[in-house]
Amino acid sequence: MGANRGENSPLREAALIIVDVQNDFCPGGSLAVPEGDQVVPVINKLAPLFPVVVATQDWHPANHCSFQAQGGPWPPHCVQGSTGAQLHPAVDRQHITAYVKKGVLPNKDAYSGFEGTDEAGRTLAELLRQRGVKEIYVTGLATDYCVRATALDGLKEGFKVHVVTDAVRGVNVKPGDDQRALEEMRAAGAFLKTSAEILSGAGVGEAVGASAYAESPQ
Ligand SMILES: [Zn+2]
Repeated sequence: MGANRGENSPLREAALIIVDVQNDFCPGGSLAVPEGDQVVPVINKLAPLFPVVVATQDWHPANHCSFQAQGGPWPPHCVQGSTGAQLHPAVDRQHITAYVKKGVLPNKDAYSGFEGTDEAGRTLAELLRQRGVKEIYVTGLATDYCVRATALDGLKEGFKVHVVTDAVRGVNVKPGDDQRALEEMRAAGAFLKTSAEILSGAGVGEAVGASAYAESPQ
């Protein structure tokens, strides 16, 4: 598809973050996000453009504090090693360069991918910096929880943060929670982008305004 991941790509210092696109958060799962699976084809289109692609996963012990049996707000979900904790089967794994797991201890919940670690024990911020990443594009589930927390933490960690608006979906415990979360992320400094804008900016399709892809100083 003409994707350019080389040194002239506008995305050469960017990472795609796929937040929690797990079976339990998709239709049929124990904590399904409405239309959660509809982010998958969008993510699969974007992933080839990025030199770094990180998938985060909720990865909870069976007695996790966020589960209702322990007084938490949620039904059991994404229990370590379960089918529900696996990425949705349609997520194209071939471009994923790292997996980050979070919420792995019984007594601590973690919405943000930046609270997780990879199999080598590196935090998300550490592994991004080791790969020279300066900006992140956040996708996945759910807009009003883990996407929100990941984007806000990314800003705190000093990354330029984009949220891909057609590659996220919200839980919407209260109607409009997803839109409020997007506004909060924008107000905090994140850029809201559509996948079409990103694809065209990377030379896949028509060009768009160059300002969003201005080169950052070395
Ligand atoms: Zn969880």
